[in-house]
Amino acid sequence: MESVEKIYDNGFKAVHGINLEVEDGEFMVLVGPSGCAKSTTLRMIAGLEDISAGSISIDGKVVNDVLPKDRELAMVFQNYALYPHMTVEENMAFSLKMRKLPKDEIKEKVDRAAEILDIKELLNRKPKQLSGGQRQRVAVGRAIVRDPKVFLFDEPLSNLDAKLRVHMRVQLSELHQKLKSTMIYVTHDQVEAMTMGDRICVMNLGKIMQVDTPLNLYNYPENKFVAAFIGSPAMNMFKATVNSDGSQSVKVADYRIDLPENKINNLEEYLGKEVYIGIRPEYINIVNDDFAESYKGKVTVLEHMGNESFVYFTSMGQELIARIQAEISHKLKPGSEFNYQVESDKIHVFDELSEVNISL
Ligand code: ADP
Ligand code: MG
Repeated sequence: MESVEKIYDNGFKAVHGINLEVEDGEFMVLVGPSGCAKSTTLRMIAGLEDISAGSISIDGKVVNDVLPKDRELAMVFQNYALYPHMTVEENMAFSLKMRKLPKDEIKEKVDRAAEILDIKELLNRKPKQLSGGQRQRVAVGRAIVRDPKVFLFDEPLSNLDAKLRVHMRVQLSELHQKLKSTMIYVTHDQVEAMTMGDRICVMNLGKIMQVDTPLNLYNYPENKFVAAFIGSPAMNMFKATVNSDGSQSVKVADYRIDLPENKINNLEEYLGKEVYIGIRPEYINIVNDDFAESYKGKVTVLEHMGNESFVYFTSMGQELIARIQAEISHKLKPGSEFNYQVESDKIHVFDELSEVNISL
């Protein structure tokens, strides 16, 4: 996609100049909050939505004016869109019949897809006789039989319950490994994005915020939006002032947080200025009372996850959250005070206005 824009008929600009290259065989996830234009972007790729500016190419060929049916893509929707009066087999065979493929070839393709998805026993059932997960697999099967150049998925797991969603997530990842096809997958769920994507395209308000591998997004977010969006619980984010006393540090309320050498690019530009500080909950460590250079926190809420706990606490006039090993958190209760340190080499610093990460 090159400089692609979308202005809807009512004048609303949904997509603001997107540039994105998806590699052959890649599993690319588009993720972002509801309304950020993930579906619009996917539908433009599919040809279901006209583009207002820019160009979209598939296999090196501009497809701006190519009809959806001639783009050789297959799309799987959240609501599955199965034909209720047809059996699973007929649903899967439908697009091939429309293309007038020979009967035995259709059968071969449907059988192969059913095999891959482990739904051979379901071929004679109607959609209403299937569970949500099975329907989802049939919808994917309908895409597989078409041997598309690219699979497009728009929140395909959103209608499933939490447990099934995790299961289907793994199944789809496995499917990608088997088929080695190019897949573009839309979700608002950053956990789905992190676990499934070879690369992730983080979007907000019709713009791309960053495209990178899951680990790079997590460790090197280029801006405040990506830092806050990726990761659960979310990164602690608060305002601070860069000290101009010659120390490499910031001031929060009456506290001082030292930053490692050269943490802020062009530090001189930021002396005395406000910035945002970001620190992930796992880089806040509870320490003994006698530990020098530690801060005091007061517990507000504890969430026990079993192996670890999320400790919500107040400190430096902020509401913060720490991710703490279960054995340590069991000594805490709401209202209790504790000492903690932050792993300062893991701190991110963002420009107050541009929100760009100035500490990478
Ligand atoms: P997402 O899939 O990320 O939730 P969408 O692509 O559905 O977001 O929508 C992006 C933005 O475009 C939203 O603000 C939405 O209200 C708007 N939008 C979607 N479809 C239309 C339309 N047909 N006409 C006008 N605005 C639309
Ligand atoms: Mg959508």
